[in-house]
Amino acid sequence: MTELTKLKGIGEKTAGALSRLGISCVEELLRYIPRDYEEFEAPKAIYELRPGRTEAVDCILRSDASVNRYNGMTIVNVNISDMAGRLQISWYNMPYIRQNLRAGAHYVFRGRVYEKNGRLIMGQPKLYRPEDFEKGYQGRLMPLYHLSSGISNKTVMKAVAEALGSEAMNSAGAEFLPEELRRKNGLMDESESIKRVHFPGSRKELSEARRRLCFDELLLFFLLQKKRKQLFTDKTSEYRCRPELRFLKMTADLPFELTTAQAEAVKTISRDMSSGRVMNRLLEGDVGSGKTIVAFLAMAYAAFCGYQAAMMVPTEVLAKQHYEKLLALIERQELPLRPVLLCGSMTASEKERIYGLIRSHEADIVIGTHALFQEKVEYDSLGLVVTDEQHRFGVSQREAMKQKGGLPHMLFMSATPIPRTLSMILYGDMDVSVIDKLPEGRLPIKNTVVGPGYRRNAYKFIYDEIKKKHRAYIVCPAIDAGDEDTGEGGSGERAGSKLIREGAASGGFAGAQELENVEDYAAKLGRIFPKEVRIGKLHGRMKSQEKEQVMQDFKDGRLDILVSTTVIEVGVDVPEATVMMIENAERFGLSQLHQLRGRVGRGQAQSYCIMINTSDKEEAAERLGIIRDSNDGFFIASEDLRLRGPGDLFGVRQSGEMGFEIADIYRDQALLGPAGDAAEEILASDPDIKAPGHEGLAKKLSLYMEKSYYV
Ligand code: ADP
Ligand code: MG
Repeated sequence: MTELTKLKGIGEKTAGALSRLGISCVEELLRYIPRDYEEFEAPKAIYELRPGRTEAVDCILRSDASVNRYNGMTIVNVNISDMAGRLQISWYNMPYIRQNLRAGAHYVFRGRVYEKNGRLIMGQPKLYRPEDFEKGYQGRLMPLYHLSSGISNKTVMKAVAEALGSEAMNSAGAEFLPEELRRKNGLMDESESIKRVHFPGSRKELSEARRRLCFDELLLFFLLQKKRKQLFTDKTSEYRCRPELRFLKMTADLPFELTTAQAEAVKTISRDMSSGRVMNRLLEGDVGSGKTIVAFLAMAYAAFCGYQAAMMVPTEVLAKQHYEKLLALIERQELPLRPVLLCGSMTASEKERIYGLIRSHEADIVIGTHALFQEKVEYDSLGLVVTDEQHRFGVSQREAMKQKGGLPHMLFMSATPIPRTLSMILYGDMDVSVIDKLPEGRLPIKNTVVGPGYRRNAYKFIYDEIKKKHRAYIVCPAIDAGDEDTGEGGSGERAGSKLIREGAASGGFAGAQELENVEDYAAKLGRIFPKEVRIGKLHGRMKSQEKEQVMQDFKDGRLDILVSTTVIEVGVDVPEATVMMIENAERFGLSQLHQLRGRVGRGQAQSYCIMINTSDKEEAAERLGIIRDSNDGFFIASEDLRLRGPGDLFGVRQSGEMGFEIADIYRDQALLGPAGDAAEEILASDPDIKAPGHEGLAKKLSLYMEKSYYV
């Protein structure tokens, strides 16, 4: 690991700003993949300009620029025309630019184009001398990185350029794939791909660089997946469950009738647990489909059979919620079960007490956060581990396996619907159960996609809901005004480049909207809403204790509106929340929007999802139309698959899904096969990855395991 300050031009201050982006050394900087690129296309004729895009035109001015004043702003205008069209070019509050804009001046103007009252306008463009543009910019792709306050894209670019020339590249860019494998799959070499992913000379280069880096990631993923499969396949279980009347009775006496899909899942799971082999199952179901009760039944079954069951969830709020629901169920049915809650925030003595109960088996069901598998926790006979709302990369398995005794049964629950074709490949090491229908009688969420002009109505609507004792979420893509975007994922995803950027570096004008941010938005709402409306804030830069407190306040009704980034927790049940309003909705991926929407519609009352579309691009409207017209997560996922085909280098990426950092299961579907085959071949000839020539690969793999917490 090389310190950032070793790089030329990087002092403590920049290093500090980089560390806020999660970059703590040069090696990590090299792997800080741009979230998007700005492409400098050749200048166009006016009739070819597309509103909503950043474009370039090349022209010689016929007359001097004019200067107008409007609403306290200075506006500099030039009008240009060619045989087939007219274009107005405007600069707001940049009076000094006028001196460059004399008749006869020849420039390439590059800026965002939009339409207003039937006129084509280019806003705030940058000026280039035509020869400079052609030589220095045209055809190039400039990287755009996730940023945060205190650091500019230019600073990151310069730091990356330094890093690429530094010694750290020797290790970070070392080739680790056998020559043969690279040739067969037509892969660029490692160091070249790192260079080119930051500074591609062309689309083709970018595509090849990304292809290589995605291949790496998928190969490691499949290597682990296949090893894991060997581990689980046909393993005799030490926790074989027997038929249990109490379990059957509990299932029959639930406060509601299970849906067919739930009942089927329960049956399959209990069959797995009594089969004599270790269960390794994924339970996939849309938000609100009722996975929790299925997990409760599985845990109860294990407990009735004399084993312990542990359920791991990402946060304490969720742990408490599950614990309370289970307790209520146990009391209602007078079940002989003894659940405990175990969270990191408990006092040491309280924890000791719980550890004791677990060790002595007085507790048979344990619900908690990562605290479940702290070293001090010793289970008497842990027969089942359930992981809720986690991507498959959870610490649960590996940690569970460190426990004494054999391999426990494993049940993973995921609320991310994935098309079946992909799910078979990505979950190839597990058995899968799908809950494909929501419980009956739920009111479908009413959706609307509107422009920013609708905000006032939305606030009025929200206020009316609050008067009915309902609550509202408002999601913004950024944390504060300095943010490019947060890169925050839902459900504990690693930060990934999930958001797109509409305009270009020269945006910030009319059509190119600023991103809404949590800080300013909450302040603004404070001014708009009457005093009695209580407004809270939630984002990823808050301490986790603070976050949990805010979430709990919202859940308990001490807050009416929660302004948040996408960190709002998956799985938290706030039945009183009836409105989900999403700002800059076009910046989110479809699945992510669907997940966010799943935070409402959990109670009896009608719920609403209001998506504010600040883009004037047609694609954005089309994508949001899909979400507006369907509440079915599997359908939305299949539409995602259709819209984001291979070769789509730009635009929304939302690979939070599987916890990948670079690869996107939709965009990079074509690589899944080859990477899987390569993993198969490697393991066939070298099952433990120890052969000469595989040293680099073995090292990568162990690093990857560390990072992914994957057995
Ligand atoms: P998720 O699959 O997103 O985890 P939950 O398990 O939290 O969903 O269930 C959502 C809500 O639906 C809960 O309030 C739960 O009690 C309720 N629920 C689950 N199954 C049924 C059912 N079969 N009939 C009616 N309500 C149900
Ligand atoms: Mg859930």
